[in-house]
Amino acid sequence: MSLASDKLETIRRQVQYHLDHAERKRLAPAEERELRERIKARLQRENAVIVAHYYTAPAIQSLAEETGGCVSDSLEMARFGHDHSATTLVVAGVRFMGETAKILTPHKRVLMPTLEATCSLDLGCPIEDFAAFCDQHPQRKVVVYANTSAAVKARADWVVTSSIALDVVEHLAERGEQVIWAPDKHLGEYVRRETGADMLLWDGACIVHEEFKARGIADLKRVYPDAAVLAHPESPAAVLELADRVGSTTQIIRAAREMQNRRFIVATDQGIFYKLQQQAPDKEFIIAPTAGEGATCRSCANCPWMAMNELEVLAQVFDRDDNEVLVDPALGEQAMVPLRRMLDFAARLQRDVKGRA
Ligand code: SF4
Repeated sequence: MSLASDKLETIRRQVQYHLDHAERKRLAPAEERELRERIKARLQRENAVIVAHYYTAPAIQSLAEETGGCVSDSLEMARFGHDHSATTLVVAGVRFMGETAKILTPHKRVLMPTLEATCSLDLGCPIEDFAAFCDQHPQRKVVVYANTSAAVKARADWVVTSSIALDVVEHLAERGEQVIWAPDKHLGEYVRRETGADMLLWDGACIVHEEFKARGIADLKRVYPDAAVLAHPESPAAVLELADRVGSTTQIIRAAREMQNRRFIVATDQGIFYKLQQQAPDKEFIIAPTAGEGATCRSCANCPWMAMNELEVLAQVFDRDDNEVLVDPALGEQAMVPLRRMLDFAARLQRDVKGRA
């Protein structure tokens, strides 16, 4: 399934705009210290907690940890926010993460450094087109990835994260169900290959993971033959074929800790290096190449929207009036149904759903 070409062009322009404005600023140490202290004081005063994603900058992740917040994948972020006693959640990530937190905890105030922090998967799956696509295939179960808007979640039968996608689709295939999968085509292809399920894929992609190059990784493997390759399943199939482990962000961190290798080539957003180095300090991590022959490196393994979560912006998070995440209550209730289905399924499997973005 493809979007109309004018819509694709609009999305490309939006993506390019954010890429062009995603330069990270460097702060002087004294300036950074002052900002951190200011944010800490406001968090206390506002009874707020930072809920950050693995792909945010190290300064954001360390501040979240220092102040009793969490650094995790998108689902765990939502769960943490739900269970924490704070009345305000400051979500440092991208918009669908703020929305998921709001859906799971509608009674809390959810703020983000900026609501402009979005995701190419979310942008590439507008509800009007997606709903029309689903309506054309009413016999299929609709399975959507967490990286979608509240409206797309509300149209789905299931929401999944990357760590439980295989189990859910396998379960549906065993029951003879056909599936619509959205929005990430690479993850969808991976799930289809692994489960053999009958899946119709939406044509979306993550601009960060899509840039990893199999040829560059193969070259790097020749230089470091002892290195294991860890890849996120949003990467293209040729990259996954070279991987020693394919998994979600949480599964990648676990693999780095548990595998015997001392060196790893990592195909996911480089924000994850903060946690990798923290959890496996005696090991070496190399980012997988994003540039290949004839390639244009658009992301350099660094999500431009995650990069919008800067300390200066975070310092103003309580003073602005354009950064609260609001979800229409009726829509939130509808979106909660497929989210709850996934959580209940995971509980039945007696496993932790440690998913991404
Ligand atoms: S890294 Fe990819 S999937 Fe994650 S938020 Fe950025 S664009 Fe979306």
